[in-house]
Amino acid sequence: MRKRHFVAVYTDSGCILGCNHKHKNITTAAACISQPGGYVVAVRRRKYLPLTEVEEAEFQKAMFGRAARASDSAPVGGLNPQES
Ligand SMILES: [Zn+2]
Repeated sequence: MRKRHFVAVYTDSGCILGCNHKHKNITTAAACISQPGGYVVAVRRRKYLPLTEVEEAEFQKAMFGRAARASDSAPVGGLNPQES
């Protein structure tokens, strides 16, 4: 059941683009983010899945770690596929 991996994603003109790796954990996926506003999602059978609460916490830790500066570069909010 654990056939999931993680990818770094970012939005470009409303599209969600992910890296082409299969990261085994959140930390390496987070390290792969090169764009401000990048995010990490789980992938299973080529579908993006939201992170679980535990994974989300891991992501936050990997991204912001000690200097919890989530306020000025919050990664959420950029994943809204509303605009075409
Ligand atoms: Zn990657």
